[in-house]
Amino acid sequence: MSARMVVDLGRILADIDVLRGRIAPAEYMLVVKNDAYGHGVDRVVAAAAAHGVRWFGAFDVPMGVRTRAAAGPDARVFSWVTITQPEIEVALEAGIELGVGDTSYLEDIATVSAGRGAPVHIKIDTGLHRNGVRPEAWPAFVTRAAELEESGDIRVVGIWSHIAETSDEDDDLSRAAFLEAIRIAEDVGLRPQVRHLAASAAAFARPEFRFDLVRFGAFSYGIRSTGGPELEGIAPAATLIATVSDVGDSAVAVSYGYLDGLPSTLAGRMSVGTPAGPRLVREIGPATMLIDPWPGAAVEDEVYLFGPGTRGESSVTTLAEAIGTVGEEIIVRVSPLVPRIYI
Ligand SMILES: *Cc1c(COP(=O)(O)O)cnc(C)c1O
Repeated sequence: MSARMVVDLGRILADIDVLRGRIAPAEYMLVVKNDAYGHGVDRVVAAAAAHGVRWFGAFDVPMGVRTRAAAGPDARVFSWVTITQPEIEVALEAGIELGVGDTSYLEDIATVSAGRGAPVHIKIDTGLHRNGVRPEAWPAFVTRAAELEESGDIRVVGIWSHIAETSDEDDDLSRAAFLEAIRIAEDVGLRPQVRHLAASAAAFARPEFRFDLVRFGAFSYGIRSTGGPELEGIAPAATLIATVSDVGDSAVAVSYGYLDGLPSTLAGRMSVGTPAGPRLVREIGPATMLIDPWPGAAVEDEVYLFGPGTRGESSVTTLAEAIGTVGEEIIVRVSPLVPRIYI
């Protein structure tokens, strides 16, 4: 049998509850980019919405539309990648709130909206240089946003930025720039409902980064930060399971059946979970891997490639740490052809 990824929806909801409890009274947003970090956006969003999650962060409009369909009409869906005019129309019809980080995009939204009060979250660049209005251009930008709000084309419902979360010092500078941007926006009369700055790591650790809303991706799925601590009460929700395809004296072959499995550079540096506990992985090929044997190993035995550790397998972050990357990268490269089984 080919590989499958078992997604424990109850585990995701439990992780969400821990995060919500920790950041209250700030609100929680579930970020679902990359197909909900590989877990499958439709089922994850439906479960979270039924569990009372109100805010969803979808990268682009197609993902936003799917999120809206799964979450229902009352959810707030935020989408932040810059899009074209036809897509803006689709977004407005689906009630998606748009993140806006440059002036020409703001004008495009106002043009398409034409008096419909498109909800926007304006973005200041606080140092990441990814998109976002540069501080020197911010006063003119917010002045224009206030005019467009006055004429009914847009509603500035949010003000936000994104930070690196790699050093506290850089994050502190970003936070100072964010506070200054809020002050300038208020000076021209804007009254955004929500201010949001941080993603998982900074918001989990540092209360002053939570503002009104936190955009939680990785931690919602139990993916801790590379080099970061284990998170109390939070555990991985996904387990990637493959089966033994061949048993030899010195090694056992495990087949996952699809390309784009685990990075081959993990060979020799990771263990998988077998019925007899953890075993070292010796070789990783495109569709199979060779691992150390155990007594009684048999074809069709299940082997856990990553997961919460039920059989001694590692988390995606522990695997990522062995090759200098982040857990998200390990999980989102699991082929979409690998079936997701929801429990
Ligand atoms: C990915 C992303 C997040 C979530 O980041 P995590 O570290 O996974 O919590 C939040 N905001 C934006 C803009 C993102 O791109």
